[in-house]
Amino acid sequence: MDLTYTPEEEAFRKSVRTWLARNVPKKRRDERPLEWDDPKRIAQAKAWQRKVHAAGWLAMGWPEEYGGRGFDVMRQTIVNEEMVRARAPGIIGMMGIQMVGPTLIQYGTEAQKRRFLPRILTADDIWCQGYSEPGAGSDLASLRTRAELDGDFFVVNGQKVWTSNAQFADWMFCLVRTDPTAPKHAGISYLLIDMKTPGITVRPLVQMTGDPGFNEVFFEDVRVPRENLVGELNRGWQVANATLAHERNMLGATTRTQQMLQALVRLAQTQQRNGKPASADPVVRQRLAALAIRVETMKLEAYRQLTDAVRGRRPGISAAVNKLVATELNHDLAKAALEILGSYGPLGRHDRRARSRGVWPLDYMFSLGLIIGGGTSQIQKNIISERGLGMPKEPRPREAAA
Ligand SMILES: Cc1cc2nc3c(=O)[nH]c(=O)nc-3n(C[C@H](O)[C@H](O)[C@H](O)COP(=O)(O)OP(=O)(O)OC[C@H]3O[C@@H](n4cnc5c(N)ncnc54)[C@H](O)[C@@H]3O)c2cc1C
Repeated sequence: MDLTYTPEEEAFRKSVRTWLARNVPKKRRDERPLEWDDPKRIAQAKAWQRKVHAAGWLAMGWPEEYGGRGFDVMRQTIVNEEMVRARAPGIIGMMGIQMVGPTLIQYGTEAQKRRFLPRILTADDIWCQGYSEPGAGSDLASLRTRAELDGDFFVVNGQKVWTSNAQFADWMFCLVRTDPTAPKHAGISYLLIDMKTPGITVRPLVQMTGDPGFNEVFFEDVRVPRENLVGELNRGWQVANATLAHERNMLGATTRTQQMLQALVRLAQTQQRNGKPASADPVVRQRLAALAIRVETMKLEAYRQLTDAVRGRRPGISAAVNKLVATELNHDLAKAALEILGSYGPLGRHDRRARSRGVWPLDYMFSLGLIIGGGTSQIQKNIISERGLGMPKEPRPREAAA
């Protein structure tokens, strides 16, 4: 692993740091998970994304003709590190930037890239992910939403569920069944659907955080132009998996985990326990040290993967490892905060007596959701054991019965 930066990279870091010092809003709410139920907050978040993009700090690895800067992975890593350091607000268009964007770069037509990629960066198009259905979560390939070709259009009928951000998204990248007679992985296609198309109904679902973060989405004779098909007809499973790997890397990013650890340490230094700051308590200190070691290990693993990426090595199962480790660790960090808070722990953001504006109980619940979203921990363990360690596949139902 190479832990050094070139003088050019160090100079670049300095310029990012200076920009962030001038531009990160002073009154920010970065310690809260991103729950988008407030139009004013959505508008502010879009404005922040536009500002970051205008400065050139977003999607730096994308080709220049689509709004990126064509840099190698190091520049974006430096920007991400500096964002953590500056406690910068989150980016609202992450599903576009980190999931469908890279997928379009790999599988999209030239027209799709030119049409969609620049608008992802400027937050003009916010995307949501239409994968899960009632009866198709971990077993995603069982999905039943149908799309039938009618001239130059697909006609979509069916239902998605747990669709994060569909309540304000402009577009959905969606998996549909286009050949019901083929084996289940072979009859799926990947469509881009304008959320304003007639026949789409979005019904918010309230999460245990109390926020309407995700939704049910119903399709009734929704007409989608054929040109919105990504990759080949009935070969969408491959495209879907490319997006999933990007999603798992996004959920497995060290950024949020480092920010949570910083916030936890600040909490321990300010929250009183037996007349002293909690951070003076040896039991709390040990707990913090154990968590800090896990965060540091995760950071070093990210550097190892970065070295692999710079040297052009294939990432293997790293997306599954990152997703598993980061989401479980984020939940453990929130759990430690609740314990430090003691009886203040459960007090939510609407309670005057809540500490840290009630962020921790919210974070505790939100981080539990992300252990499930993007593929559960059990599914990541299956992937790691089967594809990474070469262990035998789990028995399929008929084999299990035999
Ligand atoms: C916060 C959040 C946001 C989400 N956002 C989106 C979104 O934007 N778009 C979208 O399409 N979906 C989204 N999802 C849905 C998510 O992808 C699914 O919830 C997830 O894949 C699990 O599917 P399921 O809920 O149907 O559970 P099931 O698949 O029914 O699983 C139930 C339990 O069984 C276990 N299990 C199932 N199969 C196996 C197996 N083979 N081996 C071992 N254990 C197994 C699971 O680990 C789990 O514990 C979101 C979910 C959450 C919680």
